[in-house]
Amino acid sequence: MNAYSNNQTVIYHNGEFLKPKAATSSLYSQTLHYGNGVFEGIRTYKTTEGTKIFKAEAHYERLKYGAKVMGIPFNYTVEELVAITYDLLRRNQLEDAYIRPLITTGDSMGLYTSKESILTIQCWAWPKLMGDNLLRVKTSSFERPNPKSCFVEAKVTGHYINSILSTNEAKDAGYDEALLLDMYGNVAECSGANIFMEKDGQLFTPKKGSIMAGITRSTILEICQEEGIPVEEKHFKLEELKQADSAFFTGTAAEVVGLKSLDDYEFPLKWSESLGYKLMKLYQKEVLGQRKNKLSKVL
Ligand code: PMP
Repeated sequence: MNAYSNNQTVIYHNGEFLKPKAATSSLYSQTLHYGNGVFEGIRTYKTTEGTKIFKAEAHYERLKYGAKVMGIPFNYTVEELVAITYDLLRRNQLEDAYIRPLITTGDSMGLYTSKESILTIQCWAWPKLMGDNLLRVKTSSFERPNPKSCFVEAKVTGHYINSILSTNEAKDAGYDEALLLDMYGNVAECSGANIFMEKDGQLFTPKKGSIMAGITRSTILEICQEEGIPVEEKHFKLEELKQADSAFFTGTAAEVVGLKSLDDYEFPLKWSESLGYKLMKLYQKEVLGQRKNKLSKVL
Protein backbone atom coordinates (compact mmCIF):
# COMPACT_ATOMS: atom_id res chain seq x y z
CA MET A 1 0.00 0.00 0.00
CA ASN A 2 1.24 3.48 -0.82
CA ALA A 3 -0.13 6.95 -1.51
CA TYR A 4 -1.21 5.84 -4.99
CA SER A 5 -3.13 2.66 -4.36
CA ASN A 6 -5.42 0.90 -1.91
CA ASN A 7 -7.16 -2.49 -1.68
CA GLN A 8 -9.62 -1.55 -4.41
CA THR A 9 -7.07 -0.24 -6.89
CA VAL A 10 -6.87 -1.81 -10.35
CA ILE A 11 -4.06 -1.15 -12.81
CA TYR A 12 -3.61 -2.01 -16.47
CA HIS A 13 -0.52 -4.15 -16.94
CA ASN A 14 0.69 -6.02 -20.00
CA GLY A 15 -2.79 -6.43 -21.50
CA GLU A 16 -4.69 -7.20 -18.28
CA PHE A 17 -6.52 -5.34 -15.54
CA LEU A 18 -4.92 -6.43 -12.25
CA LYS A 19 -4.44 -5.55 -8.61
CA PRO A 20 -1.06 -3.81 -8.28
CA LYS A 21 0.35 -6.67 -6.19
CA ALA A 22 -0.52 -9.21 -8.89
CA ALA A 23 1.58 -7.35 -11.46
CA THR A 24 5.19 -8.34 -11.78
CA SER A 25 8.14 -6.59 -13.33
CA SER A 26 11.58 -7.93 -14.02
CA LEU A 27 14.72 -7.04 -12.10
CA TYR A 28 16.58 -7.39 -15.41
CA SER A 29 14.55 -4.73 -17.23
CA GLN A 30 16.57 -2.17 -19.14
CA THR A 31 14.29 0.49 -17.67
CA LEU A 32 15.39 -0.31 -14.13
CA HIS A 33 19.10 -0.38 -14.95
CA TYR A 34 19.49 2.37 -17.53
CA GLY A 35 16.32 4.50 -17.45
CA ASN A 36 15.15 3.46 -20.90
CA GLY A 37 11.42 3.74 -20.41
CA VAL A 38 8.80 6.28 -21.48
CA PHE A 39 5.94 7.65 -19.46
CA GLU A 40 3.17 10.24 -19.37
CA GLY A 41 1.42 12.35 -16.79
CA ILE A 42 -2.24 12.95 -17.64
CA ARG A 43 -5.18 14.36 -15.74
CA THR A 44 -8.84 13.65 -15.81
CA TYR A 45 -11.46 16.06 -14.55
CA LYS A 46 -15.05 15.64 -13.41
CA THR A 47 -17.06 17.80 -15.80
CA THR A 48 -20.79 18.39 -16.23
CA GLU A 49 -20.59 15.94 -19.13
CA GLY A 50 -18.90 13.24 -17.06
CA THR A 51 -15.27 12.32 -16.56
CA LYS A 52 -13.05 13.87 -19.26
CA ILE A 53 -9.39 13.10 -19.80
CA PHE A 54 -7.76 16.42 -20.67
CA LYS A 55 -5.87 16.33 -24.00
CA ALA A 56 -5.72 12.53 -23.91
CA GLU A 57 -4.71 12.28 -27.58
CA ALA A 58 -1.84 14.79 -27.26
CA HIS A 59 -0.46 12.91 -24.24
CA TYR A 60 -0.65 9.52 -25.94
CA GLU A 61 0.88 10.95 -29.14
CA ARG A 62 3.80 12.14 -27.00
CA LEU A 63 4.08 8.70 -25.36
CA LYS A 64 4.23 7.07 -28.80
CA TYR A 65 6.77 9.65 -29.99
CA GLY A 66 8.97 8.82 -26.96
CA ALA A 67 8.81 5.08 -27.68
CA LYS A 68 9.64 5.73 -31.33
CA VAL A 69 12.72 7.87 -30.74
CA MET A 70 14.00 5.41 -28.12
CA GLY A 71 13.47 2.50 -30.53
CA ILE A 72 11.02 0.81 -28.16
CA PRO A 73 8.41 -1.36 -29.90
CA PHE A 74 4.95 -0.06 -29.04
CA ASN A 75 1.97 -0.91 -31.18
CA TYR A 76 -1.02 0.49 -29.32
CA THR A 77 -2.96 3.11 -31.23
CA VAL A 78 -3.93 6.39 -29.56
CA GLU A 79 -7.60 5.32 -29.78
CA GLU A 80 -6.84 2.02 -27.98
CA LEU A 81 -4.89 3.83 -25.29
CA VAL A 82 -7.67 6.34 -24.67
CA ALA A 83 -10.29 3.55 -24.50
CA ILE A 84 -8.19 1.49 -22.05
CA THR A 85 -7.70 4.57 -19.88
CA TYR A 86 -11.42 5.37 -19.69
CA ASP A 87 -12.06 1.70 -18.85
CA LEU A 88 -9.42 1.86 -16.10
CA LEU A 89 -10.93 5.05 -14.64
CA ARG A 90 -14.36 3.37 -14.57
CA ARG A 91 -12.95 0.28 -12.84
CA ASN A 92 -11.36 2.52 -10.20
CA GLN A 93 -14.41 4.81 -9.96
CA LEU A 94 -12.18 7.84 -10.42
CA GLU A 95 -13.18 11.26 -11.73
CA ASP A 96 -10.64 13.91 -10.69
CA ALA A 97 -7.52 11.83 -11.08
CA TYR A 98 -3.95 11.57 -12.31
CA ILE A 99 -3.05 8.93 -14.87
CA ARG A 100 0.45 7.51 -15.21
CA PRO A 101 1.13 5.35 -18.27
CA LEU A 102 4.61 3.80 -18.33
CA ILE A 103 6.31 1.75 -21.02
CA THR A 104 9.07 -0.43 -19.64
CA THR A 105 11.57 -2.36 -21.73
CA GLY A 106 12.46 -6.04 -21.57
CA ASP A 107 15.39 -7.82 -19.97
CA SER A 108 18.71 -6.58 -21.26
CA MET A 109 21.98 -5.59 -19.71
CA GLY A 110 23.08 -4.35 -23.11
CA LEU A 111 22.80 -0.79 -24.36
CA TYR A 112 20.83 -1.52 -27.51
CA THR A 113 17.11 -1.00 -26.90
CA SER A 114 15.40 -4.23 -25.89
CA LYS A 115 12.81 -5.28 -28.44
CA GLU A 116 10.24 -6.16 -25.81
CA SER A 117 8.06 -3.69 -23.98
CA ILE A 118 5.27 -3.68 -21.42
CA LEU A 119 2.64 -1.00 -20.93
CA THR A 120 1.43 -0.28 -17.41
CA ILE A 121 -1.20 2.36 -16.64
CA GLN A 122 -1.85 3.44 -13.09
CA CYS A 123 -4.24 6.10 -11.84
CA TRP A 124 -5.13 7.61 -8.51
CA ALA A 125 -7.39 10.29 -7.12
CA TRP A 126 -5.87 13.73 -7.43
CA PRO A 127 -8.01 16.77 -6.80
CA LYS A 128 -7.42 19.98 -8.75
CA LEU A 129 -4.53 21.93 -7.28
CA MET A 130 -5.59 25.37 -8.53
CA GLY A 131 -4.87 27.58 -5.63
CA ASP A 132 -3.14 30.76 -4.70
CA ASN A 133 -0.12 29.12 -3.13
CA LEU A 134 2.79 30.96 -4.69
CA LEU A 135 6.12 29.23 -5.11
CA ARG A 136 9.54 30.28 -3.86
CA VAL A 137 11.92 29.20 -6.58
CA LYS A 138 15.68 28.72 -6.69
CA THR A 139 17.82 28.91 -9.79
CA SER A 140 19.44 25.52 -10.10
CA SER A 141 23.14 24.88 -10.44
CA PHE A 142 22.08 22.02 -12.76
CA GLU A 143 21.33 22.82 -16.42
CA ARG A 144 18.75 21.14 -18.65
CA PRO A 145 20.46 18.48 -20.78
CA ASN A 146 22.16 19.46 -24.01
CA PRO A 147 19.41 18.82 -26.61
CA LYS A 148 21.99 16.96 -28.67
CA SER A 149 22.52 14.50 -25.79
CA CYS A 150 18.96 13.14 -25.84
CA PHE A 151 15.45 13.79 -27.15
CA VAL A 152 14.45 16.50 -24.67
CA GLU A 153 10.83 16.50 -25.85
CA ALA A 154 10.38 12.81 -25.03
CA LYS A 155 9.28 11.85 -21.53
CA VAL A 156 12.00 9.26 -21.01
CA THR A 157 12.35 7.97 -17.45
CA GLY A 158 16.12 8.47 -17.37
CA HIS A 159 15.84 12.17 -18.20
CA TYR A 160 14.22 12.72 -14.82
CA ILE A 161 17.50 12.34 -12.95
CA ASN A 162 18.13 15.97 -13.95
CA SER A 163 14.74 16.96 -12.49
CA ILE A 164 15.38 15.01 -9.28
CA LEU A 165 18.82 16.55 -8.74
CA SER A 166 17.52 20.08 -9.24
CA THR A 167 14.46 19.51 -7.02
CA ASN A 168 16.64 18.03 -4.25
CA GLU A 169 18.96 21.01 -4.42
CA ALA A 170 16.10 23.53 -4.24
CA LYS A 171 14.17 21.76 -1.48
CA ASP A 172 17.28 21.10 0.61
CA ALA A 173 17.98 24.86 0.46
CA GLY A 174 14.44 25.58 1.73
CA TYR A 175 12.78 26.50 -1.60
CA ASP A 176 9.69 24.97 -3.20
CA GLU A 177 10.98 24.43 -6.73
CA ALA A 178 13.97 24.68 -9.05
CA LEU A 179 14.36 26.76 -12.19
CA LEU A 180 16.82 25.41 -14.75
CA LEU A 181 18.72 27.23 -17.47
CA ASP A 182 19.74 25.59 -20.72
CA MET A 183 23.33 25.04 -21.85
CA TYR A 184 23.37 28.51 -23.45
CA GLY A 185 22.34 30.28 -20.21
CA ASN A 186 18.78 30.88 -21.37
CA VAL A 187 15.92 30.32 -18.96
CA ALA A 188 14.54 26.86 -19.79
CA GLU A 189 11.95 25.43 -17.40
CA CYS A 190 11.25 24.12 -13.94
CA SER A 191 12.07 20.50 -13.01
CA GLY A 192 8.61 19.37 -14.14
CA ALA A 193 6.81 22.38 -15.61
CA ASN A 194 7.24 25.19 -18.15
CA ILE A 195 7.66 28.86 -17.31
CA PHE A 196 6.01 32.09 -18.49
CA MET A 197 6.93 35.62 -17.41
CA GLU A 198 4.90 38.83 -17.62
CA LYS A 199 6.45 42.21 -18.41
CA ASP A 200 4.47 45.39 -19.14
CA GLY A 201 1.26 43.49 -19.92
CA GLN A 202 2.90 40.96 -22.27
CA LEU A 203 3.80 37.33 -21.70
CA PHE A 204 7.00 35.56 -22.74
CA THR A 205 7.87 31.88 -22.63
CA PRO A 206 11.10 30.13 -23.68
CA LYS A 207 11.20 28.83 -27.24
CA LYS A 208 11.30 25.09 -27.82
CA GLY A 209 14.73 23.50 -28.25
CA SER A 210 15.97 22.67 -24.76
CA ILE A 211 12.61 22.28 -23.05
CA MET A 212 9.83 19.75 -22.77
CA ALA A 213 7.13 20.96 -25.16
CA GLY A 214 4.48 20.96 -22.46
CA ILE A 215 0.89 20.26 -23.40
CA THR A 216 -0.22 22.79 -20.76
CA ARG A 217 2.20 25.31 -22.30
CA SER A 218 0.54 24.85 -25.72
CA THR A 219 -2.91 25.08 -24.12
CA ILE A 220 -1.92 28.39 -22.49
CA LEU A 221 -0.55 29.67 -25.84
CA GLU A 222 -3.86 28.74 -27.49
CA ILE A 223 -5.93 30.39 -24.77
CA CYS A 224 -3.78 33.56 -25.05
CA GLN A 225 -4.36 33.66 -28.79
CA GLU A 226 -8.08 33.19 -28.41
CA GLU A 227 -8.44 35.67 -25.56
CA GLY A 228 -6.22 38.34 -27.14
CA ILE A 229 -3.49 38.10 -24.48
CA PRO A 230 -0.15 39.07 -26.06
CA VAL A 231 2.43 36.29 -25.79
CA GLU A 232 5.76 35.62 -27.46
CA GLU A 233 8.00 32.55 -27.51
CA LYS A 234 11.60 33.74 -27.21
CA HIS A 235 14.91 32.98 -25.52
CA PHE A 236 15.62 35.13 -22.48
CA LYS A 237 18.19 35.21 -19.71
CA LEU A 238 17.85 35.06 -15.95
CA GLU A 239 18.55 38.83 -15.66
CA GLU A 240 15.44 39.54 -17.75
CA LEU A 241 13.31 37.17 -15.69
CA LYS A 242 14.49 38.98 -12.57
CA GLN A 243 13.02 42.22 -13.94
CA ALA A 244 9.65 40.68 -14.79
CA ASP A 245 6.43 41.83 -13.14
CA SER A 246 5.18 38.32 -12.54
CA ALA A 247 5.83 34.70 -13.54
CA PHE A 248 4.11 31.33 -13.46
CA PHE A 249 4.71 27.63 -14.16
CA THR A 250 2.49 25.42 -16.28
CA GLY A 251 2.21 21.64 -16.31
CA THR A 252 -0.34 18.86 -16.18
CA ALA A 253 0.33 18.26 -12.50
CA ALA A 254 1.04 21.87 -11.50
CA GLU A 255 -1.69 23.29 -13.78
CA VAL A 256 -1.02 27.07 -13.59
CA VAL A 257 0.87 28.17 -10.50
CA GLY A 258 2.31 31.58 -9.68
CA LEU A 259 5.83 32.37 -8.48
CA LYS A 260 6.34 34.43 -5.37
CA SER A 261 10.07 34.81 -5.81
CA LEU A 262 13.12 33.67 -7.70
CA ASP A 263 16.24 33.49 -5.50
CA ASP A 264 16.08 36.84 -3.67
CA TYR A 265 13.95 38.59 -6.32
CA GLU A 266 10.27 39.03 -5.37
CA PHE A 267 7.89 39.41 -8.31
CA PRO A 268 6.30 42.83 -7.73
CA LEU A 269 2.89 42.42 -9.37
CA LYS A 270 0.14 41.10 -7.11
CA TRP A 271 -0.73 37.57 -8.29
CA SER A 272 -4.46 38.33 -8.39
CA GLU A 273 -3.76 41.22 -10.80
CA SER A 274 -1.44 39.28 -13.10
CA LEU A 275 -2.08 37.65 -16.47
CA GLY A 276 -1.02 34.38 -14.86
CA TYR A 277 -3.93 34.58 -12.45
CA LYS A 278 -6.33 35.33 -15.31
CA LEU A 279 -4.93 32.35 -17.22
CA MET A 280 -5.16 30.12 -14.16
CA LYS A 281 -8.90 30.84 -14.07
CA LEU A 282 -9.29 30.37 -17.84
CA TYR A 283 -7.33 27.10 -17.72
CA GLN A 284 -9.61 25.87 -14.97
CA LYS A 285 -12.59 26.53 -17.25
CA GLU A 286 -10.81 24.98 -20.24
CA VAL A 287 -10.18 21.64 -18.51
CA LEU A 288 -13.82 21.52 -17.45
CA GLY A 289 -15.00 22.35 -20.99
CA GLN A 290 -16.55 25.61 -19.77
CA ARG A 291 -14.51 28.27 -21.56
CA LYS A 292 -16.75 30.41 -23.73
CA ASN A 293 -14.47 32.46 -25.95
CA LYS A 294 -13.29 29.61 -28.19
CA LEU A 295 -12.45 31.24 -31.52
CA SER A 296 -10.79 28.11 -32.86
CA LYS A 297 -14.03 26.20 -32.52
CA VAL A 298 -15.91 28.87 -34.48
CA LEU A 299 -13.43 29.49 -37.29
N1 PMP B 1 8.75 20.27 -18.32
C1 PMP B 1 9.09 19.08 -17.79
C2 PMP B 1 10.52 18.77 -17.58
C3 PMP B 1 8.08 18.15 -17.48
O1 PMP B 1 8.41 16.97 -16.95
C4 PMP B 1 6.73 18.50 -17.70
C5 PMP B 1 5.65 17.51 -17.35
N2 PMP B 1 5.41 16.64 -18.41
C6 PMP B 1 6.45 19.75 -18.24
C7 PMP B 1 7.48 20.61 -18.55
C8 PMP B 1 5.02 20.15 -18.51
O2 PMP B 1 4.47 19.35 -19.52
P1 PMP B 1 2.90 19.10 -19.62
O3 PMP B 1 2.27 20.44 -19.64
O4 PMP B 1 2.75 18.36 -20.88
O5 PMP B 1 2.51 18.32 -18.42
